[in-house]
Amino acid sequence: MRLGVVIPCFNEEEVLTETKNRLERLLGEMIEEKEVSEDSFICFVDDGSRDKTWELIEEFAKESKIFRGIKLSRNFGHQNALIAGLMQLKDEADALISMDADLQDDILVVKEFVKKYKEGYDIVYGVREDRSRDTKFKRWTAELFYKFQAFMGIESISNHADYRLLSRRALDALAKFKEVNLFIRGVVPLIGFKSCSVYYSRGERFAGESKYPLKKMLFFALDGIASFSIVPLRIITVIGFFIFLFSLMVIIWIFFEKYIFGSTIQGWSSIMVSIYLMGGIQLMSLGIIGEYIGRIFQQSKNRPRYIIDKEIK
Ligand code: UDP
Ligand code: MG
Repeated sequence: MRLGVVIPCFNEEEVLTETKNRLERLLGEMIEEKEVSEDSFICFVDDGSRDKTWELIEEFAKESKIFRGIKLSRNFGHQNALIAGLMQLKDEADALISMDADLQDDILVVKEFVKKYKEGYDIVYGVREDRSRDTKFKRWTAELFYKFQAFMGIESISNHADYRLLSRRALDALAKFKEVNLFIRGVVPLIGFKSCSVYYSRGERFAGESKYPLKKMLFFALDGIASFSIVPLRIITVIGFFIFLFSLMVIIWIFFEKYIFGSTIQGWSSIMVSIYLMGGIQLMSLGIIGEYIGRIFQQSKNRPRYIIDKEIK
């Protein structure tokens, strides 16, 4: 079985050498044990790094033939970098494993992935059993996100990030998803085929800092919801409907107050409050609708998800 490992890297000079050393040892071992074939490889995808990441990748590739590299023309973002690697290499391996560069995901799980592949699974998810070493904030927001996704009716695997194995035919299926704002972990369950999960505990970043600042994380979460569910649009409709019903009742009430009981109300504050309330709801609704229109806009332009600058085989 020919295995490929794909690792997107963005400004990862601090960790890359250690990652390379550990993976070299692991893959060497697996080749020796005849778990995977000798032409298995590890490919680093440089996502437009501004530090020495690419120079390091070039060095690795010179040192050993198991290392390969793809350099994107600029920073396309984690998901696009990953898709670039997977699509570029899918015809050269029986299965590809994707992982982060920062050694947060236990690399020994790779052996487990391969075992499951040999048992006939096309998709093997790496699931974090224990997030105690993530920051509290990250854990809390992640949990909230999974709950919200479930509420929106999106099928997803909790605590699974982009650490997984995909067989060649699963990759061929993934290639058919031409979405621009690709949220890979949301699309993979839509592929189908036989799948299973492998559990591990997630560590801390080996070195360097997270390449997902809050802003990137929030937009990423938005992609994960708006690309898979139209429930937010429905919620707007439902809210609008109830407000409409409520206003009908208010109209009837006002009618009775004025013409039957003959009292007029000094209603300045209630008017102001309802103006602000309605204004807020309308702006929010427009924003949500705008999100979807924006997605249609991006999709209709059909721009490439990534552009490759250089490739080392
Ligand atoms: N990454 C990338 N492009 C980006 C941001 C991140 O390729 O624009 C890579 C990064 O190098 C790492 C992986 O995506 O290999 C996950 O990033 P990170 O570990 O910083 O995220 P966190 O674990 O903090 O969520
Ligand atoms: Mg990380």
